[in-house]
Amino acid sequence: MATLVIASDWIVPVESPAISKGFLVIRDGLIVHVSDRLPDCYENCPLVRLVGGAIVPGLINAHCHLELSDIDPCLIAPANDIGHGSMVGWLNQVMARKKSIANSGVDIEEIKRKAILSGLEESWKFGTRWIIDNITAPWSADWCESWQAEFRDPLKSDRLSALVAQSRLFVQPCVELVDVTQSRLTETVEFAQRTESTLKGMSLGESANVCHTPIGLAPHAPYTASKRLVEYALRCVSSSGGILSMHLAESLEELDYADRRQGPFKPWITPWIDAEHASQIGSIQVHLQLLCTSPKALIAHGNYLGDRQIELLSSHPHQVAIVYCPRTHQHFRHLEHPARRIVKGQIPLFLGTDSKASNPDLSVFKEWQTACKAFPDLGPKFWMAACTTGPAKFLGIEKLVGTLRVGSKSLLTWVPLERQTPENQEQLWESLLEANRAMPLECHPIFADS
Ligand SMILES: [Zn+2]
Repeated sequence: MATLVIASDWIVPVESPAISKGFLVIRDGLIVHVSDRLPDCYENCPLVRLVGGAIVPGLINAHCHLELSDIDPCLIAPANDIGHGSMVGWLNQVMARKKSIANSGVDIEEIKRKAILSGLEESWKFGTRWIIDNITAPWSADWCESWQAEFRDPLKSDRLSALVAQSRLFVQPCVELVDVTQSRLTETVEFAQRTESTLKGMSLGESANVCHTPIGLAPHAPYTASKRLVEYALRCVSSSGGILSMHLAESLEELDYADRRQGPFKPWITPWIDAEHASQIGSIQVHLQLLCTSPKALIAHGNYLGDRQIELLSSHPHQVAIVYCPRTHQHFRHLEHPARRIVKGQIPLFLGTDSKASNPDLSVFKEWQTACKAFPDLGPKFWMAACTTGPAKFLGIEKLVGTLRVGSKSLLTWVPLERQTPENQEQLWESLLEANRAMPLECHPIFADS
């Protein structure tokens, strides 16, 4: 058994006070001890001493589209008539890009595979350990597994194998469902069923693989996923135990269309949607009521949730959480996010990057810094919980990722601090806010020559 002692200037479990000059003991990828002292029984174990930084739990990205990770720079959201970034204008750019790739005669599957691999690599390099990823066809779990397989060789040293005895990153795939027409519905539902049976057929080990099962479902948004499609998705996840993820209350344009059948979404969607499916579009409130019956649902964005809707969600804190994507929110120049009212309603609030079509990179740590600046009154510790312990507990994955405690896996994140070693908790959080980046703990230079 490979055991490693890590002495660090700061260890930040988040769910308990940060530990100055602390000790972590890791055995075969599991945390077996964490405190400000090293018990005698570990005195003869190999020890590494990390200075000039802090260890935090592995970061969780609660909303992403890895398949768009080859977009750089992100797509501009042209101003609408009230000066916000137009969702419809931006969606047009996403679709124009997709069409030009399709028309160029390139191998679309290969383009997508490369984009997903680059998204995995980028996420991991920024210290992310769990990604909730909206997927569309073509997609293969083998792509994610092949990315992980490339790490097998360098895992030769005892120190590294003590630290990382399993996957370095997990993906929770959520298959995007759309039903603007019967053929689109059949296409997306069949893809979801195929993906589920393929993943089951791969007999995934509890931690040996990247893709986490059961798969989740992602009815896309109120303008592309009807009430009955969301009801169908709910029945599926209720029996499979998967999660449900849906873009909801993201823009004022969406509210205009879903609640009043007006605004720029109406002419935009008309060529795509048939009359029968258009008649099944639900209001934001109807979708929220449906999501409240889900075992676990994530609302991506929730930028324009009203008081009545927040009140409804506050009665279902174990069923529904909201994922705030701070830099995507800024990209669209939305009105202030209702984060404070969500927190007051005790509704779980997490962080996500969304895709590189609306974000310069996939760093959850940067989302944390942006959220801290946007809502400093909620505090850096609250926002750190929103991308670590919070989603880990909500999703029931605390033993795999997002926590730094005895019994958890050691998929941890290292944050190099620019200024001198902080002397107290307050200085520590200030230093973290000024830090340039986060990275996987195993990428600390001390492990480079091991
Ligand atoms: Zn999204």
